[in-house]
Amino acid sequence: MPFTPKNVRTRLTLWYVLALTFILLVYAGISITLVYLDLRRNLDHALNEDYEILENLIRVTPDGSVLLDEEDDPYFHERWFEIWSTDGKKLYESRPFTSKSLPAISEEEKATGGFSFRSLKLENNVRVRVMYGKTNIEGKWLFIRLIHFEDRMWNEIKAFAWLMLFALPVAILIAGLGGYFLTKKLLAPIDQMAEKARKISEENLQERLPVINPNDELGNLAKAFNELLERIEKSFTRLKQFTSDAAHELRTPLTAIRSIGEVGLQENKDVSYYRNVIGSILEENRRLTRLVDSLLFLSGADSEKFKPNIRDFQLYPFVEQTIEFIQPLAEEKNQTIHPEGQKDITLRADQGLLKEALLNLLDNAIKYSPAGTEITVRIARNKKYTTITVTDQGAGIPEEEQEKIFERFYRIDKGRSREMGGSGLGLAIALWTVQIQGGTISVKSKSGFGSSFIISFPNSGNKNKHRFGDTS
Ligand code: ADP
Repeated sequence: MPFTPKNVRTRLTLWYVLALTFILLVYAGISITLVYLDLRRNLDHALNEDYEILENLIRVTPDGSVLLDEEDDPYFHERWFEIWSTDGKKLYESRPFTSKSLPAISEEEKATGGFSFRSLKLENNVRVRVMYGKTNIEGKWLFIRLIHFEDRMWNEIKAFAWLMLFALPVAILIAGLGGYFLTKKLLAPIDQMAEKARKISEENLQERLPVINPNDELGNLAKAFNELLERIEKSFTRLKQFTSDAAHELRTPLTAIRSIGEVGLQENKDVSYYRNVIGSILEENRRLTRLVDSLLFLSGADSEKFKPNIRDFQLYPFVEQTIEFIQPLAEEKNQTIHPEGQKDITLRADQGLLKEALLNLLDNAIKYSPAGTEITVRIARNKKYTTITVTDQGAGIPEEEQEKIFERFYRIDKGRSREMGGSGLGLAIALWTVQIQGGTISVKSKSGFGSSFIISFPNSGNKNKHRFGDTS
C-alpha cells in the first residue's frame, strides 16, 4: 500500500520537499553542465593559443624532417604535442612529465581538414583533451596534435559537484522544516475551527467559528460555515417556536373538550343538555381538525419537493367560483361579496393554491368585519402586475401589526380570533401559497377604515420559488 500520511501538513511538506528536490537536482545538473562546458571552452582556448605559437615555430628541413625554432625555449618543454606526416609517420614529439602515449594518428583524424578537438581516456583513467590540426609548412602538409591534461578541469568539476551534493540536502532540510512550520502556522486556523465546530451543539447554536482573516480562503470557509450555522439556527428556532405554538394551540381545544365533558358528567341532566354538550365537543373537534389540517398543509409547504401546478386560466370566473364557495359563510353574517374589475384576464398560476390563498383572505374579511358589511374582490392588471385585492369594511389592522400578521400563529387579538375559529395560520398559509408561485401578498389598512389584502403576480410570469417563511 502506498505511503500516504494522514495529516495534510505532513502531506503538503512531503510534496513540497519532493518538488524542491526535483527542482534542485535539475538546477544542480544544469549548473554542473554549464561549469563543465565553460572549463572545456577555456581548455580549448588555451590549446588554440599554444597551437598558433607552435605552428609558427615549426621548420621543415630539406630532408623532410621537422625542427622547432627556439627548441630550447622552456615553454615548449612544458607542452605535450606531436607532429605527424601525411603518410602517418611521427616526425616530432614533445612529451614532458608523462610516459603516456596517444594512439597513432587515425584515418578519421587524417580525413578531417582544419581543426578539431576531442577528449580521450588513456590507460589508468587519465583524461586528455586533444587539439588536432592539419597545416602546410613550407610546402609540406603536416598533422599537429596538441594535448592538455583534463585532470585540473575534472577536479574543479568534482569539487563543484561535491559542493552541490553537500548543499542540496542542507537546503532541502532547511526548506522542508521551514515548509512544515509554515504550513502548520497556515493551517492552524483549521484546527481552531474544527475544535470550535465540535463544541457547537443545539444548546449553543448561536456561537460562531473564529474568522481570523476574512479575506483569505480559510476566512471564506469560516464565513460560509458561519452563514450555514446562522441558517440552521434560524430554522431550528423557527421549528422550536412552531412546535411550541402548535402544542399550545392543540392544548386549548383539548382542554375545552375535557372540561365540557367533566362538567357534563357531574350531574344528571336531560337529553337536550347532553345534546348541547356533544355539540360543544363537536365544535371543538372541528376546530382541532381545522388546526391539524392547517398544520399538515404547512408541513407539506416546508418540504423542498413541493411543486406548484402552474396553468393558464381565466381569472374572473375563477374569483366568482371562489366567492360562491365561501358565500354561505358571508350570508350567515349578512355580508355581501362582489367581484369587480377586468373580466378578460388570463393568469398563469396554480389554481388550487390561489384558491386556498383567496379563501383565507375572504374568510378573514368575513370574520373581522361587522355583520351587514360589504366585501369586494377587485381584479386588475397594469404593465407589470396582475392583482387580486380583497377589501373589507372591518376594524382594520394597526400599522405596527401589519407585517407580523403573516407570521405563523400570530394573532392581534388572540381571544377574539379563537372565538371566530382562527388559529393564526390563515395568512401564513395564504402567503406561502402565493410566494411559491412567484407572487406576493401585501396589506393596506388603517385602524377603523377596513383592510385591503393585495395578491400580486408579475406579468413576466416570474415563477421564482420562495421558501415559506423567507422574509428576506
Ligand atoms: P386567524 O386564524 O387568527 O384569522 P390569520 O393568520 O388569518 O389568523 O390572521 C392573523 C391575524 O391578523 C388575525 O388574528 C387578525 O387579528 C388579523 N387579521 C387578518 N385579516 C384581517 C382583516 N381582514 N381585518 C382585520 N384583521 C385581520
